[in-house]
Amino acid sequence: MIRSSLLLFASLSAVALAQAPTAKEIEKVYPDAHALYLDLHQNPELSAHETQTAAKLAARLRSSGYDVTEHVGGTGIVAMLKNGEGPTIMLRTELDALPVEEKTGLPYASKVRTKDDAGREVPVMHACGHDLHMAALLGTAEVLAHSKDTWHGTLMLIGQPAEETISGADGMIRDGLFTRFPKPDVAVALHVNNELPAGMVAITPGIYNTNADSVRIVIYGKGGHGAAPNATVDPIVIAARTILALQTITSREVKPGEMAVVTVGYVHAGTKNNIIPDQAEMGLTVRTYKQDVRKQILSAITRITKGEAAAADAPREPSIERYEGTDAVYNDPALAQRLRPPLEAALGKGNVVIAEPITPSEDFSYFVEQGVPGFYFSLGGADPEKFAQAKAAGTMLPSNHSPLFAPDVDPALHTGIFRNFAVLRNLLNASTEELRKLTAEQSSR
Ligand SMILES: [Zn+2]
Ligand SMILES: [Zn+2]
Repeated sequence: MIRSSLLLFASLSAVALAQAPTAKEIEKVYPDAHALYLDLHQNPELSAHETQTAAKLAARLRSSGYDVTEHVGGTGIVAMLKNGEGPTIMLRTELDALPVEEKTGLPYASKVRTKDDAGREVPVMHACGHDLHMAALLGTAEVLAHSKDTWHGTLMLIGQPAEETISGADGMIRDGLFTRFPKPDVAVALHVNNELPAGMVAITPGIYNTNADSVRIVIYGKGGHGAAPNATVDPIVIAARTILALQTITSREVKPGEMAVVTVGYVHAGTKNNIIPDQAEMGLTVRTYKQDVRKQILSAITRITKGEAAAADAPREPSIERYEGTDAVYNDPALAQRLRPPLEAALGKGNVVIAEPITPSEDFSYFVEQGVPGFYFSLGGADPEKFAQAKAAGTMLPSNHSPLFAPDVDPALHTGIFRNFAVLRNLLNASTEELRKLTAEQSSR
């Protein structure tokens, strides 16, 4: 009896040891991942136009032994690696870059310019770090392909287009992501940022980020001569009053302490100083944690906008259109609890921290809404020295989407691969039943 439990213990520790990724395994795949990073960073593509990006990632995954399907939901890719019985675990990366002019001064800075969907020439930059996510996914794919004796089940890697426009996840699902391919038992993703030094990761059990809604408002007036305002209804004045009135939603209507942001990000109206235009357009972003606060704000925007137009005797009701939206990403707490120890084992206890929810949003929530339990977390990207200096000075390093956003690639990419590997290999050592039982609470939240 004692002997058999000793044997059991020995075999369990062998599994535990086999699960711990080694630096040697990571070093073997790192050059490939780093080369892909440099290539992608210098050749960024805008949302829904990631054709070269997807082709490069697909080719690399194919040569690592993955069964790759391209053009899923536009430029999306799905790479499968079957390795016997077991759960299906999905790892997702985004493919897209942003219309931002890179000003990092890095030797591999992007110089790419292209036409956007409206036909305007724009600079393009991987200012959100999706290039690092793709490189980490490739490194992880290779290391898992090289160590098939340490896990079982099906690995599903996806390259998702158009995250920045919150449309790519939805597009892939509509194109059969979970019907043409197996529906995963767990979906995993990460996001690099400058709020943590490279080498660290942050977990947020429960609500990870915000509900996001994009609202377009067109206010209709009556155009005419700038010198004869009495013969017009000036939509610029209505817009100005509306913008100020919208500020009272969070300051006067929402309960103090609730997370709520209403930002007017653009106002477009008029062509010349002495012409009163006949309409004004503005674009808003709304962020919330709770569904009831979200509903309250969206309805207040409609009420105030219509009210201001009516007060000015506008000839037509304004048009108010919610044209993009995504729910907050929900991190299954049981998964977060299960995955914290393997992350600590891989990265060191002090390098895994629990963090507050963040305000930027993301469409990973679409996968979770399909009933797939999710584990999404933050990967430190900041140069540790610069991070410490900024903290001491009470300043912040450039955030994602900044023209100066430049992750400290070597430690961040190493950690990204290490972390993906630790999480995936842990999940790919569980049984499907075990994961289903663990995440059963998901639907009752
Ligand atoms: Zn991003
Ligand atoms: Zn972004």
